[in-house]
Amino acid sequence: MRFSDILGHEKPLNIINAYIEKSCFSGGYIFSGPEGIGKKTVAKIIAQKLNCTAQIDRPCGSCSSCLKIEKLRHPDLHIIENDASQIKIEDIRNLQREASFRPYEGVMKVFIIDDAHRLNPEAANSLLKVLEESPGGSLIILITHKLQNIFKTILSRCKVIRFSPLAITVLEDILIKDYLVDRLFARFISFYAEGRLGLAVKLKDSKVFEEKNRIFDSFVLSGKPLDRNFTGQSREQLRGCLNILASWFRDIYLLKAGISDRELIHLDRENDLLKLIHEFSFKQLDGILTTISESIFYLENNINSKLLLHNLGVQLWKA
Ligand SMILES: [Zn+2]
Repeated sequence: MRFSDILGHEKPLNIINAYIEKSCFSGGYIFSGPEGIGKKTVAKIIAQKLNCTAQIDRPCGSCSSCLKIEKLRHPDLHIIENDASQIKIEDIRNLQREASFRPYEGVMKVFIIDDAHRLNPEAANSLLKVLEESPGGSLIILITHKLQNIFKTILSRCKVIRFSPLAITVLEDILIKDYLVDRLFARFISFYAEGRLGLAVKLKDSKVFEEKNRIFDSFVLSGKPLDRNFTGQSREQLRGCLNILASWFRDIYLLKAGISDRELIHLDRENDLLKLIHEFSFKQLDGILTTISESIFYLENNINSKLLLHNLGVQLWKA
């Protein structure tokens, strides 16, 4: 993959390119932004760009260096990532030792620390020393979706580059062109994943599309009370269901307001939605959307979910 293949992150890439062109892309950087939007992918492509052996158009994606980085087998690329609750000092000691050597094969050693907000205080202190010594042949990229949890000392030694979720339409195009996802499905998962490519790619192989239609058929068309359908679901699943339910009513609202179908999330069910636009007034739709968003809030605050869903069902169908 080349820089030009990365869609939707023009702003951070322009900043990074400017640093690389001035040959001053070394030391510590923090890539900050929501989970699953491609921060780590960009970090790996930077490692390729800095170490690619092609004369022009780096990274070429096909030289030995690019291929080794792609397979995570390059001796100058080190990634710290694990499922442990903390990144510990042992992980950083290894980084410290490696950073003191010159690159083995490439031009620059690249260290990527994923979920850097999980550095424990000892590990953060140890990393701070590496950053202060700032070895010229090394680049340290910290990836995080919780910038507020990064130690201030680390923050003061790094440049922060912010990444945003992709626009829904950009993500939809990527899913259609690069992942060959059907257009109607791509529209829905782009919305559902809130512009996060990583999540959207996972969702494309899931049953979320069938599930959202099941929710629609079950509640909006048949009008069964919510609690009977949602029994036994986890809070996270309930939250997902409520978000889907809200998206249905959002679409009904937009269709009723005469907004073009380009804005619709549930493009695959446009005909069913059109049948419903006369069933609800704008005031009723406003009330329903408010009730659903309040329910999501209560759910997150541990209110009894069975009671909550029963009340939501009663409110929806009296509308
Ligand atoms: Zn290359």
